[in-house]
Amino acid sequence: MSDRHESSRREFLYRASITALGVALSSSLTSCSSGPPFRTEESTDPAKALQALVDGNRRFMEAKLMPHDWNLERRNAVVTGEQPFASVLCCSDPRVPPEVVFDQGLNDLFIVRGAGHTVTDQVLGSLEYSITGLKPPVRLIVVLGHQDCGAIKAAIKEVFNNVTPPGNIASLTKAIRPAVELVRELPEDRRLPEAAKHNVLLVVRQLREDKYLGPLLKDKKVHVVGGIYQMETPIESGRVEFFTATP
Ligand SMILES: [Zn+2]
Repeated sequence: MSDRHESSRREFLYRASITALGVALSSSLTSCSSGPPFRTEESTDPAKALQALVDGNRRFMEAKLMPHDWNLERRNAVVTGEQPFASVLCCSDPRVPPEVVFDQGLNDLFIVRGAGHTVTDQVLGSLEYSITGLKPPVRLIVVLGHQDCGAIKAAIKEVFNNVTPPGNIASLTKAIRPAVELVRELPEDRRLPEAAKHNVLLVVRQLREDKYLGPLLKDKKVHVVGGIYQMETPIESGRVEFFTATP
């Protein structure tokens, strides 16, 4: 077979597979009916909200995602307002999109993102809004960190190699440094994963101790849970390990 012939055969197969994928996607997007505008049970019970995320993450790990409605019917159904059943504070890392990792759809999650999921007044205000400004209010907040976090790597470089990143990125490493200081005595290969966990725990504590958000968490009985998205371990790849769960 000539190179030219082989090249056109590959081109044909490529185009055929893309067309088949398009038909399959189009079919799955249009065949499912639109769900309710919000999830009543999960919205009112933080334990059920957490279980929905655990179940969704299992589907993600097993590549058995639900056929969510991303169509006009669903968009029209949720136009009445924001009604997420959980808030997620997480890193901007494009490998860890919360809706995908937890297999959720439109209007399910209230997401606050920024590199290293650092806490600013704006982040606190956003989470506060999800509790006080939405009906029903969010009753579960997840602080989601992840392995191989670039923001934490930068903070480790700053602490151990005295290399401060340029511009506004330095504000991120400044916020993450306390988590890195806690892993000073660890072997080098343990610093990154352990600092990621400490960063989640410290952020959870910051939320609980905030003068506005803290009392709200108690009064509204909002659960705050920390988790780490596993990236490096092949067997557990894609799993969110939840490691704090207190009211
Ligand atoms: Zn990250």
